[in-house]
Amino acid sequence: MELEKKFTEELYKRYQQTQRCLLPKEKYFGIIDELKQLQPQAKKTSRQYKLLARYEVLQCGHMEKLIKKRTTPEDSPIFFVTIEDTFDIIKTAHIATGHGGRDRMLKELEKKFANVLRESVELFKSFCKVCQEKTKRKRTKGVVVRPILSHEFASRGQVDLIDFQSMQDGQYRWIMVYQDHLTKFVVLRPLSSKRASEVALQLVDIFTLIGAPVILQSDNGSEFTAFIIRELREIWPELKIVHGKPRHPQSQGSVERANSDIKDILIAWMTDNQTTGWSLGLRFVQFAKNRSHSAGIGRSPYLAMFGVELRVGLSSTSLPTWQCLEWSQEWASVPHLSLPGNVWSGTKSGPQFHISPYLAMFGVEPRVGLSSTSLPTWQCLEWNQEWASVPHLCLWI
Ligand SMILES: [Zn+2]
Repeated sequence: MELEKKFTEELYKRYQQTQRCLLPKEKYFGIIDELKQLQPQAKKTSRQYKLLARYEVLQCGHMEKLIKKRTTPEDSPIFFVTIEDTFDIIKTAHIATGHGGRDRMLKELEKKFANVLRESVELFKSFCKVCQEKTKRKRTKGVVVRPILSHEFASRGQVDLIDFQSMQDGQYRWIMVYQDHLTKFVVLRPLSSKRASEVALQLVDIFTLIGAPVILQSDNGSEFTAFIIRELREIWPELKIVHGKPRHPQSQGSVERANSDIKDILIAWMTDNQTTGWSLGLRFVQFAKNRSHSAGIGRSPYLAMFGVELRVGLSSTSLPTWQCLEWSQEWASVPHLSLPGNVWSGTKSGPQFHISPYLAMFGVEPRVGLSSTSLPTWQCLEWNQEWASVPHLCLWI
């Protein structure tokens, strides 16, 4: 509470210096009143023209919200926020991105808000105790990794283990990190051991949900990957997958950094929630990683994987949360979402899909290891040794 007061005071100080962008509550409602009093036919002053070009009033139930002028009413509203509300809004984005840095927060905020300033985000970040602790634990800065561009077909997945034996949580001692190289999408699982059989079982779980890569690699060594692939073959004989080495020395550094990032977000989650039960926290770290903007691919891993922005229950609607909850009773009658027209066609018995649910969800056909390449399987296996040098897949930019 003390922090919020200090933060708001700082924003007011800034507002005194420059009147641009920041909106005290009073001014916010003043603009709404001015806009409402405008007569459509009457002659307008230049100030009124300016207001009309910049703002629009959105009726949310019995609340009026100031939003950025839209080109069509179908555009999602981008909200203006008052100085008084800024702290809460930044805090939500900060937690959602796993105590994300300035740029990650800005990316998250600009989807929904029009006037949250870079300076305000920096100021907030400097107030966060958890983040200060994080900076204290010195980190080595690595080289910038450029995404590897090629239009070849081999997809890669990487599986690594993070040692958490010193912080055992119930039966769990290890974190398994699975990352799809193309989209940077990560899946995190708590493990009780580093046995290949346990890792393989988790991977089958993941592969049957999001598809399996052609090449599996690991920083834990090629022997480790070989054992896992052998276990995978036991559980899922049809799955043909080969092991590869991280080909570029830099890409190894990038995985190391990703793993230390996961540790940091997890420790921040444990501090925020005052718990040592990190196996539960892993789910939220996974979520935060996948929804946050990734510089290497120019979008969030979630967007890269699913082709749409992520939804988080009511908070992804444009309504203020308290209002959603008030309306709770009425939500049952809200129409269901539907896919774009070309994907299904209606019949008397209801919609008929022309595509698999997987294709509808991910926008691409599922991959199942080597069998999704155009090569005959025997050949792939014969070539086993050479796969490590197959170029990485890249996203269409
Ligand atoms: Zn923080």
